[in-house]
Amino acid sequence: MTGHMKTKILIVAYPTQGHINPSLRFANRLVKLNVDVTYCTSVSVIRRIDIQSTHHGLTFVPFSDGNDNGIQPTTIWQQFFLDFSTNGASAVAEIISSAATAGQPFDHVVYSSGVPWAAKVANAHGLESSLLWCQAAIVLNIYYYYFNGYQDLISCNNNNPTFPIDLPGLPSLTIADLPSFMLPSCLKEHKFILEFMKDHVDVLKISPRILVNTFDELEVEAMKAIEKLVVLPVGPLVPSEFLDGNGLSYDSIGCDLFEKPVEDYIKWLNAKQKSSVVYVSFGSLATLSIEQVEEMASGLVESGRPFLWVIRDGDQVGKLSKIEELKKQGMIVSWCSQVEVLTHEAIGCFVMHGGWNSTVEALVAGVPTVVFSQWSDQAINAKMIEDVWKTGVKVKRREGDGMVERKEIKRCVQMVMEDEEMRRNAEKWRELARQALGNGGSSAVNLQAFVDDVQDKTIIYKNGQDEHVKKGFESQES
Ligand code: UDP
Repeated sequence: MTGHMKTKILIVAYPTQGHINPSLRFANRLVKLNVDVTYCTSVSVIRRIDIQSTHHGLTFVPFSDGNDNGIQPTTIWQQFFLDFSTNGASAVAEIISSAATAGQPFDHVVYSSGVPWAAKVANAHGLESSLLWCQAAIVLNIYYYYFNGYQDLISCNNNNPTFPIDLPGLPSLTIADLPSFMLPSCLKEHKFILEFMKDHVDVLKISPRILVNTFDELEVEAMKAIEKLVVLPVGPLVPSEFLDGNGLSYDSIGCDLFEKPVEDYIKWLNAKQKSSVVYVSFGSLATLSIEQVEEMASGLVESGRPFLWVIRDGDQVGKLSKIEELKKQGMIVSWCSQVEVLTHEAIGCFVMHGGWNSTVEALVAGVPTVVFSQWSDQAINAKMIEDVWKTGVKVKRREGDGMVERKEIKRCVQMVMEDEEMRRNAEKWRELARQALGNGGSSAVNLQAFVDDVQDKTIIYKNGQDEHVKKGFESQES
């Protein structure tokens, strides 16, 4: 820490919506704790932020990653990752050295998942860094174990979805629960992601501290599973304006990578009864096949309930056979402000893909879910929703082609809308999420501990419901 100046933290974020949202929300929280934050990512993201409205203490530094128009339908993911890594590493090195040359050096670097190279760049400049992991803590544990002793067991049995995988300190899993990149069903063009995850696990040797968008009570076991890792839950990372009470409300900067729709969906929701609307969205990346979209449409129509459905691909909407019927019963939009929708009292359930941000946002809003997982970490998120937190159900797929039929969608929507116990559980998690962020709550304590540690003070952090006092985070052997 540099003399009496404010602590300066550089955040480097991966440029997809699922990483921008939690990292920007994290940046807003740090600013609230009087930290001077520089937020750095691709031009394609930063140009969508209304810089004029930003608060004092939050500075944006864009760099060109070679894909200035952002992700396109034609984007080849491996190339995109590579371009971002190569251009990002030199840009971040330059940002760190110019700040030092100008006499305003950074004290610390926080990098989101997807950016493991930032730990190496920080290290090369003599700076410590922390990972801001944007998925569940258990997912990081699984990757860690995979690259530390369990790769053979998993690879040799990954054709058998029910094969049990017991990893120390974690609940019993099966092959089907693991990240899709470890499974034979992984698309060829996504296979490189596993290598990328290896980099993430490797750099934990130089940067063992991990801030996670989760909270203590939500993942008690995962938080403590691996002793070598310092896991600090600092979530749920949601925009503070949607968290009532606890004095948490302040203006936070957000960034939507998609255009706002023309439809006034909030006005539409305002006219609906409490807990009556089914909200349907599959995040920012996944796209369902047109046949699957048709099944979903029929399932929603047959459920007889009003729905708000995000379909990002306008061409798909144009192809829908029941469009007139759908428009009578619900509203289809190309994008929405999801947290605002989820916290609207008209929403009764959320049909989703199980992306981690959506999972956390649903928990914070106290909305029960129907989970139709697609890829990556979504299967394990779905499992935890159904088996551990008991706030929703997983859809069952048809044998053979994996299609989720209309009657299954109708069944799950009906079940989640009507199940009192699930609603009570959702309410319980809503409260626990707020407590974690409130005064003295575990995530609030951890975030302060992190800031204090960057400032080199004795810190207290809460993890796995134990309280630890530690003089800084000594770099740990891995
Ligand atoms: N989101 C949104 N509006 C939409 C769809 C998604 O604001 O219409 C946001 C959502 O709130 C979440 C993020 O986009 O914060 C998606 O992240 P998630 O991890 O759920 O899924 P991903 O897009 O990474 O698959």
